[in-house]
Amino acid sequence: MFAFCVMKLGFSEDATYNRLGVAHAGRKFPAVLDALRSGEVHLSGLRVLVPRLTAENHRQLLARAAGKSKREIEELVAALAPKPPVPDAMRKLPRSVPSETAQLALAPAAARRVEHARSIAPLSEDTFKVQFTASRRLRDKLRQAQDLLRHRLPSGDLANIVESAVDLLIVKVKKERFAAGRKPRPNGKANTAGPCPRPMPASVRRHVYVRDQGRCTFVDEFGNRCPETGMLEFDHIDGWARTHTHDPDRIRLRCHAHNQHAAEQLYGRDFMERARRPRGTRVAPGRDAMRHRRLCMELVLTKARVADRSDRLRRSESSESRRPLPHLRRINSTPPPSAASAATPRPSRSGTRSPRGGPRSSRRTPSCRRGRGQRG
Ligand SMILES: [Zn+2]
Repeated sequence: MFAFCVMKLGFSEDATYNRLGVAHAGRKFPAVLDALRSGEVHLSGLRVLVPRLTAENHRQLLARAAGKSKREIEELVAALAPKPPVPDAMRKLPRSVPSETAQLALAPAAARRVEHARSIAPLSEDTFKVQFTASRRLRDKLRQAQDLLRHRLPSGDLANIVESAVDLLIVKVKKERFAAGRKPRPNGKANTAGPCPRPMPASVRRHVYVRDQGRCTFVDEFGNRCPETGMLEFDHIDGWARTHTHDPDRIRLRCHAHNQHAAEQLYGRDFMERARRPRGTRVAPGRDAMRHRRLCMELVLTKARVADRSDRLRRSESSESRRPLPHLRRINSTPPPSAASAATPRPSRSGTRSPRGGPRSSRRTPSCRRGRGQRG
């Protein structure tokens, strides 16, 4: 049946495994198929629940799993059959790990029927197994923390250390982002009535965060509030660009997606799409596009002018460096007697000499010019 589903029906291995597992359970307990048909429990959730179903508990468990996500059903199952806590472990991974595709190609079909490893998996109602790959840096820091806390935690329990560290991190980030936990200033409330600078006062951020319970405030047409507690942003209901005020009653918490949705409704989709582009590439249609093009042309011309000027400066500096300094010129004009007798310089009319010791005439003769040309 497995091969038929994969080869003939074109199901993936995972999908086939889920369907076959639930179908087998459905033979024993028809209520499973009823729950699936009515949509009370989805296929992935049933797959997790099926191994725990018995003739006595299956109706009760299906009722408890109704409307729950797969993760919630996993927690329900973990509470029913708790696993022992896993021991602390830090071990070095092999240098080259074979890729997942290679494993899939080599492993037999039966071995592939494994659920994807999850980084946080429930073990019982209150315990979870957390798994991740750490850098050498983190390993060293964990060992340092274990050593520092040895007087309080002689066992060096990693879960305790990580929990304490995460507690500190949460407090720090809440203070930074939402001013939560900071002491209010003694001089009272910030002035939010008139135009204010862009950074939002800490008192306003704290008030909004506590009032909205650190969660997105979007409510859909069925009255369901968005459950998002990550990527939260402050949304000015009347638009910051329009009011330039931080009235706490006109500010709410929104997740990033719902904040963008609100901004599109307020300012229009075209405007927001332009605003989302990286700086320097934002071009508005019509007059703005013309202005942008003109500015680009001016920029190109300015760059060319600067390059030309620096080139001329460089050339004049190099010719200056080739010209002899006045005192050197004086020294060179009186050659040493030995040098004068050894070399037979051609006397020039002016009597000046070039810095190389040769004669230098203000008016070059054709022979001089020929000589220079031969050297070059
Ligand atoms: Zn939301």
